[in-house]
Amino acid sequence: MQPFETVCPAESATDQLGKRIADAAQPCDVIALVGTLGAGKTRLVQAISVALGNTAESITSPTFVLVNEYTAGRMPVYHFDVYRLKDDDEFLELGSDEYFDGDGVTLIEWGDRVEHLLPERASVVKIDIGANDVRRVVISGPLSERLTITTK
Ligand code: ADP
Ligand code: MG
Repeated sequence: MQPFETVCPAESATDQLGKRIADAAQPCDVIALVGTLGAGKTRLVQAISVALGNTAESITSPTFVLVNEYTAGRMPVYHFDVYRLKDDDEFLELGSDEYFDGDGVTLIEWGDRVEHLLPERASVVKIDIGANDVRRVVISGPLSERLTITTK
């Protein structure tokens, strides 16, 4: 399966990508967001969550609580940020497995750090900052399959 690749030259493009991901997302989706500090992981979570019907203001990086839930939209969003995670146990104790099998979509910033704790069906969204701050986004896994199909 080929990854889905796109570029976001401006935040408006990130909002459009967020809408496409929101339209393609299904309950029990687990999406790892991978990229350096400032790559745009939180910004993309915001774009996806707003497209699902949440307000932009409600979306903040769950740095200290590690997980936020946005439930005002048509599908819940479970937003993890595992940057400050101490160890695997801390992630499991948050109830990660229940979130994965819940009614919503799970988005995990720094998801590569807990890759071994994610289900096999997890998708990966890799964001890199290129020249002129353009974001290069490469999506692999079941989500990429659905995005590729809707492109055609
Ligand atoms: P991360 O969560 O990966 O650390 P953030 O989403 O918090 O990154 O921050 C990304 C920053 O980059 C934001 O301040 C945002 O305004 C800026 N930015 C500039 N261009 C883009 C773009 N095309 N897509 C997303 N964010 C962008
Ligand atoms: Mg962030």
